[in-house]
Amino acid sequence: MSRFFSDKYRALTPYTPGEQPQDKRYIKLNTNESPFPPSEKAVALAAEAAARLQLYPDPQSAELTAKVAAMCGVSPDEVLLTNGSDDILNFAFMAFCDDAHPAAFPDITYGFYSVFAACNRVPYTEIPLGDDLTVNVDDYLGIGKTIFLANPNAPTGIVLPRDTIERIVQSNPDSVVVVDEAYVDFGGESCVPLIHKYDNLLVTQTFSKSRSMAGARLGFGVGCAALIQDLNTLKYATNPYNINRMTAAAGLGVLADEEYTRQNCQAVMDNRAYTMRELRRLGFAMTDSAANFVFAKHEAVDGAVLYRELKDRGILVRHFDAPRLAAYNRITIGSREEMEQFVRTVETILEEYTR
Ligand code: PMP
Repeated sequence: MSRFFSDKYRALTPYTPGEQPQDKRYIKLNTNESPFPPSEKAVALAAEAAARLQLYPDPQSAELTAKVAAMCGVSPDEVLLTNGSDDILNFAFMAFCDDAHPAAFPDITYGFYSVFAACNRVPYTEIPLGDDLTVNVDDYLGIGKTIFLANPNAPTGIVLPRDTIERIVQSNPDSVVVVDEAYVDFGGESCVPLIHKYDNLLVTQTFSKSRSMAGARLGFGVGCAALIQDLNTLKYATNPYNINRMTAAAGLGVLADEEYTRQNCQAVMDNRAYTMRELRRLGFAMTDSAANFVFAKHEAVDGAVLYRELKDRGILVRHFDAPRLAAYNRITIGSREEMEQFVRTVETILEEYTR
């Protein structure tokens, strides 16, 4: 730390992204990316856009915003595109949280929420999940705080039905509820249709997972026009060009290829069912995941040990040290071949540990 670093941030512990090793080729099941390449249409349009990189992009990303709005069944002024959904989540902490509006989210959820809160100096409460790692809805009813709920949750993959979220939104009419739907395309029920009913609901989604565009950084939020206007104020106060030309073009390409996205989501869901079946056969306990990952633990082998044994054999999964998570690993669902190799490798490791 330099002697110039502001006191505001001296105690800040930043988010730790999953490993992106460059040393050798792993089977990467650690950062919830898609195993499938981006749509060819996305690649072609991004390449065309690269030829005009001397020009700033459209700060409104008007064409893509209109397409995303049409996909969501809302109007363009109810949508804001951002540099990944992390960007809009940060804006939401900036816009809707302060001392009078503290944040609240589960104790086990996307690790960036507490970092955004700390970075924006927002007080927050972590509401414990139940022993079975589910959200207890009553804990969120009428709490009068700015609520952040990942649905499906991460790293558990457990999903809440839309009407349950609606009860939370309805019971906190003077607080914003942010529903982070990064994984909704793998089996969740989106809350987007509720935005016309509640002016305190913001739904965020991403192109990183179901649309194979993690490297492009494209996310978006959907909410009533006034909420979107607030978030826009922060976008224009920080980085008006947060969607670069190539990303916007790739976004248009993938939206013109919805059948490809649908097939890939179906393949991930099929591979998830296969992986869960096989892990259960091997004696793993798992949460009921509706996301593109599973969260699994085994009595015979500690989570950190399994993580290391897999890494030594060229397979990366995500392990979290937090006491309630340490027994588990979060395993991203890859292609069928990757998951078959993963299962074979886990079987070999278990043979060693249960001998
Ligand atoms: N929300 C959740 C729950 C996530 O797991 C992630 C991915 N790390 C994100 C949001 C952010 O994804 P992105 O910025 O790539 O859209």
